[in-house]
Amino acid sequence: VTFSDLSLSEDLLKAVKAKGYTHPSPIQVQAIPVILGGRDLLASAQTGTGKTAGFTLPLLQRLSQSTKSQKYHIRALVLTPTRELAAQVAESVRDYGRYLPLKSLVIFGGVGQQPQVDALKHGVDVLIATPGRLLDLHQQGHVDLSQIETLILDEADRMLDMGFIHDIKRLLRLLPKQRQNLLFSATFSNEIQTLAKQLLNDPAFIEV
Ligand code: AMP
Repeated sequence: VTFSDLSLSEDLLKAVKAKGYTHPSPIQVQAIPVILGGRDLLASAQTGTGKTAGFTLPLLQRLSQSTKSQKYHIRALVLTPTRELAAQVAESVRDYGRYLPLKSLVIFGGVGQQPQVDALKHGVDVLIATPGRLLDLHQQGHVDLSQIETLILDEADRMLDMGFIHDIKRLLRLLPKQRQNLLFSATFSNEIQTLAKQLLNDPAFIEV
């Protein structure tokens, strides 16, 4: 299987080529068609498997293919447990989306919030965030989550380990009911399975 077999647009194939990847990894081969098809996904994948490109490439393709309902609404939300992971995912979104007219932004705690607030005002298609800072900014009226089309929980097991379950549940209540949900986790505790049951609608399951 090559990247060209995965129905990705020329702009994304160019970006993949620029990264120097020759072949899609197993999780990419499995996840990309599922996500492009609009289905919910439960994926068991460790760091290093290429999971980030596995969700970012099809996400960007879907966003660039369908038109926005309204300008300046966040259309995709990636939640991560740590700022390091948030920054890494944001870099991937920028890299893979370099030929697409989509805007992304990363927000996390531990740094001043004003630059994040200013950046939100300029319009964002893909928001990558840690749960606590996102809730803070939402409470202050700086973030509109009502137009989210796709939600991605990355390293969901770590988010639960770090005690983010209540933040996640509060965030879920702020999202539209009709949306695509993707859950990535290295492990499958009872807690993760419970979250998956609540969150996912007839998901595809991938294990690599
Ligand atoms: P991840 O598991 O998403 O953290 O990715 C692990 C590393 O693999 C990152 O440095 C990616 O740039 C790299 N990577 C992702 N997909 C591929 C691929 N298809 N071929 C080669 N390297 C890749």
